[in-house]
Amino acid sequence: MAAGDLELQQLLERELERQQTTLQLIASENFTSRAVMAATGSVLTNKYSEGYPHKRYYGGNRVVDDVEDLARQRASRLFGADHANVQPHSGASANDAAYMALLEPGDTVLAMRLDQGGHLTHGSPVNFSGQRYRFVAYGVTPARPDGSGERIDLDQVAELARTERPKVIVAGATAYPRTIDPQPFRSIADDVGARFLCDAAHPAGLIAGGAHPNPAPFADVVTFTTHKTLRGPRGGAILCRAELAADIDRAVFPGLQGGPLEHVIAAKAVAFHEAAQPSFRAYAAQVVANARALAQALAEEGFRLVSGGTDNHLVLVDLRSFDPDLTGKVAQEVLDGAGITCNRNQIPGDPRSPFVTSGLRLGTPAMTTAGMGGPEMTEVAQLVGRALRGRSDESTLGAVADEVRNLCAKFPPYPAGGH
Ligand SMILES: *Cc1c(COP(=O)(O)O)cnc(C)c1O
Repeated sequence: MAAGDLELQQLLERELERQQTTLQLIASENFTSRAVMAATGSVLTNKYSEGYPHKRYYGGNRVVDDVEDLARQRASRLFGADHANVQPHSGASANDAAYMALLEPGDTVLAMRLDQGGHLTHGSPVNFSGQRYRFVAYGVTPARPDGSGERIDLDQVAELARTERPKVIVAGATAYPRTIDPQPFRSIADDVGARFLCDAAHPAGLIAGGAHPNPAPFADVVTFTTHKTLRGPRGGAILCRAELAADIDRAVFPGLQGGPLEHVIAAKAVAFHEAAQPSFRAYAAQVVANARALAQALAEEGFRLVSGGTDNHLVLVDLRSFDPDLTGKVAQEVLDGAGITCNRNQIPGDPRSPFVTSGLRLGTPAMTTAGMGGPEMTEVAQLVGRALRGRSDESTLGAVADEVRNLCAKFPPYPAGGH
């Protein structure tokens, strides 16, 4: 790869080395299979194919039509959906298209608060969503000492649905460590005559692997990313009921996008196939088991966890319990220096800004793919605790970095090289 381009070759090798020798705990990242990478790097990148299978604006799409049909069929079958659109370039593009299909500018949408787990595309004022539509936000219940709080406040969702009369209700989050049950959202939407959009960007792989409830039978539209827990190429996809298929397809193209990335669509087809295998069910279950093990070990290190733990692939750490002066920003930088890659995150009711924050988000999808299990999660939590306690001591941080390197050496995601 990158034959003759020594400059880029060296960059790829540096990135492979980084991925193999440090802990990847960003909850939205994963390690794809070589088959996914091969499809992404295939000749399909050469083809223009505006339109949809058998309805293209360019010639020469016989093979591409079969590729995209295969991806659509596999996606529909995997989630039991009537229709799939596999062209969105990303999760944000998928949401953009879903809103375009369901809403007019200025319409009201009910979605989760951004500082309590929602995504930028759920109505942030700096995002197209918040600029084009009128978003009203629901949140989580207050924290409780027994860990039963900080769950989506369904009473508030129902109350806001009654008073605000949204056209669409969005479920889905980017930093919420608990299961999102689609059923109550469906019945609240029915009560007020709203559409129900489930943004399953994060748990798509857990859903495909049977570890989390499938929103497809309940939601009018499901958007998701293919690169998070689903472990495919970077991209998005949309599932919907048959009667919305034409509206969704029209919103993606010609509404928002130009030519689809058929090489990435081929890689999505690979990922949907992989996610339908029994081994992926075992993977999804292990991702959740690992997150539970990580949560328990972090609690033993003295960290309070938002909602008291996790049901999914991520934990949200409240750093104030560990050290009131330690911000998410500093913790992220300290851990990065020790080879532990994760991101700072606001926690519900965070007094600090999104750039500073009082929380850390840690996820298990990537390290589970690399083969780590419960004992390694305990070790990771202890390394996090040691690094943050000893953050002003160079020798402690050096010792943690050495242990991280040793641990990673036992679980290389790409043992025979990445490319
Ligand atoms: C990640 C995410 C997205 C956006 O996906 P991108 O591919 O980064 O555009 C949308 N919604 C939620 C809930 C997400 O977590």
